[in-house]
Amino acid sequence: MSADSDSQTIAGRLAEVRDDIAAAAKSAGRDPESVKLVAVSKTHPAEAVEEAIAAGQRVFGENRVQEAQSKFPDLKERYPDIELHIIGPLQSNKVKDAVAIADCIQSVDRAKIAKAIAKEMEEQGRTLKLLIQVNTGEEPQKAGIPPAEVAEFVEMCRAELGLEIAGLMCIPPLDEEPAMHFALLEKLAGQLDLPELSMGMSGDYEKAVQFGATYVRVGTAIFGARDYT
Ligand SMILES: *Cc1c(COP(=O)(O)O)cnc(C)c1O
Repeated sequence: MSADSDSQTIAGRLAEVRDDIAAAAKSAGRDPESVKLVAVSKTHPAEAVEEAIAAGQRVFGENRVQEAQSKFPDLKERYPDIELHIIGPLQSNKVKDAVAIADCIQSVDRAKIAKAIAKEMEEQGRTLKLLIQVNTGEEPQKAGIPPAEVAEFVEMCRAELGLEIAGLMCIPPLDEEPAMHFALLEKLAGQLDLPELSMGMSGDYEKAVQFGATYVRVGTAIFGARDYT
């Protein structure tokens, strides 16, 4: 068995996920190149990220700024072409660091954070790609803009803050069929003419590709189970 078909290694699992994405894209009549894989490395050490880099992976996702700071400045120095996406809820006091370290923030979820990001991008002279997190399930405990308010929020970001919004992101409720949430996000992005759609995780990325995902965020299927102890 070649290393690339070995599901015991990060390289092998990455190859499997890439194959699955390509197959799902093809069967949906999409160009496999139109789907970008975000390897979610939260809780995993920098060595695991390096294994993925060695296997050709370039885009990574972290949901905590502090954890990202413990791994990525050094990795980015050694591998300047890697991209870091922040995919978790941001606190105001972390925006400065997030803007300094990340290339994309997928979790813009309220006006206060959008304003802080605009201010920091201006001050640091950096331009990050920005996606708005949509609370498609309208779950009270979950971050994100309610679907009915997304249009107004995007317009506020553009008109008042001068931010370019690249797309939308969602995390469907755990106990619901994700397809309806993917379909809703696709519809909203279409109405607002936003090109990027970030949806789908280890359990449902193939389905997300069917519904038009341009980013899938996959952690466990690449790096293995997370240990929070
Ligand atoms: C952790 C996380 C993922 C990856 O989840 P897996 O099920 O491990 O693939 C994707 N998106 C977000 C926002 C996450 O926090």
